[in-house]
Amino acid sequence: MTAADAYAELIRRSKELGVLNSCAAVLSWDQHTYMPRNGAGLRGEQMAFLASLSHQKFTDPKNNELLSTIEGSDLAKDPEADATANVREIRRAYDRATKIPASLVDELARVTTAAQQAWEHAKKANHFATFRPHLERIVELKRQEADAVGYKDHRYNALIEEYEPGTTVAELKELFAGLTKQLVPLIQKVADSPKKPDRSILEREFPVDRQKLFAESAAASLGFNFAAGRLDTTAHPFCSGFGPGDCRITTRYNPRFFSEAFFGVMHETGHALYEQNLPAEHFGTPLGVACSFGIHESQSRLWENQVGRGRPFWQHFFPRLQQAFPAALADVSLDAFHFAINDVKPSLIRVEADEATYNLHIALRFELELALLSGDLTVVDLPDAWNTRFTSLFGLTVPDDARGCLQDIHWSFGGLGYFPTYTLGNLYAAQFMAAAKHQLGAEILADDMRRGDFGRLKEWLVKNIHRNGQRYRAGELCRRATGSPLSPESFVQYLNEKCAEFHGVC
Ligand code: ZN
Repeated sequence: MTAADAYAELIRRSKELGVLNSCAAVLSWDQHTYMPRNGAGLRGEQMAFLASLSHQKFTDPKNNELLSTIEGSDLAKDPEADATANVREIRRAYDRATKIPASLVDELARVTTAAQQAWEHAKKANHFATFRPHLERIVELKRQEADAVGYKDHRYNALIEEYEPGTTVAELKELFAGLTKQLVPLIQKVADSPKKPDRSILEREFPVDRQKLFAESAAASLGFNFAAGRLDTTAHPFCSGFGPGDCRITTRYNPRFFSEAFFGVMHETGHALYEQNLPAEHFGTPLGVACSFGIHESQSRLWENQVGRGRPFWQHFFPRLQQAFPAALADVSLDAFHFAINDVKPSLIRVEADEATYNLHIALRFELELALLSGDLTVVDLPDAWNTRFTSLFGLTVPDDARGCLQDIHWSFGGLGYFPTYTLGNLYAAQFMAAAKHQLGAEILADDMRRGDFGRLKEWLVKNIHRNGQRYRAGELCRRATGSPLSPESFVQYLNEKCAEFHGVC
């Protein structure tokens, strides 16, 4: 078989798997939105069947032969060629999928299913001991997974690889150290400032039907294509891109808190714009898939925070918001509203944190995950370690484990290595936005937003980020789009400017 024939066959197989996996995505979306309760049993069987079929097709040794044939040829040598990126990423995923023994995959599935239930109970009852043996088992199994996959320097590197290929513990440590050093004093300055926003204006009566209309119109203005997507309601918001022409987002509405649904929709719309603008012709292959979790998160946070908490955005939308909610906002000024949605304040819960303190929550989790995997920290000592470190980062005392180390679902599903991608998303978002402003003109972009026109910014993202799929790893994509490697600089500068805008002291 020639290398060209091998590549054609590899792509055919990859696209077939893309279709198969998109079927599972539709079923999963339905499960979280409209499936009746009694459908859970059958849905479980359907999902398990598709997952095992997909795994079996992907780990077929024939794929290894095809990859080897291509790798031994000139076909995948040109760094700019489609084949190079597709072969590199299919090889990475194939090796990972085949190096982890089936028995370990089965056990992880079994252990994490039980652990998620135990975690829910433990969190509700504020009882860490209920979750502890499950987490101990998960840490042990994740160590085995890292050993099976192989790694350099730190087991954690094998786990990050699943979410952020090419990123290492060493890089993350440096990013977090630089970031924390600058964030802690910045957050302190805000805390010491006598100027405080009135958050209560966001906690007035916001009728849900009007919130829905307002959020939909904002999503459409950003460029979300409702002919190729939907917005529905779920307990936990998410975005699921099935493939070309169909991307679903969800949110949840709180009639007494405006920010929850609105910024949730902005966030998921950011994810969705990425999915809707991946190159359709590459669907099912790495070139048609988002670059990494961190880059995906950069797109959601760019629209949610960099755009959606900015003044130009609300110069356009605030009068419309007042029209939609006259009872709540008739007596509120744009300044007061803008300040309220940008409040920075240390708090206990990650998912409720503002964009500045958010990253300290992640720094904490990253440190603890590293220590758990290396064995420097045992699961028994986790609550104490959490509480001590939390106080040193936030200056707050953790009142209980439910609001401490039990607050997140991630460890219960085995997602060690996942958390850093949230902060990478914040940093990439700031660096992309700074580059877009530099290249397109900051005032031109601000003027666009004041008119409710986001086309120019969106096109920049489509060209520099979305259309590339997995052509480059995240670090390289960042260098190409912004001219420099990822650093906390743009993000810290962005926060300092905001701080100066509201407090005049930073
Ligand atoms: Zn997200």
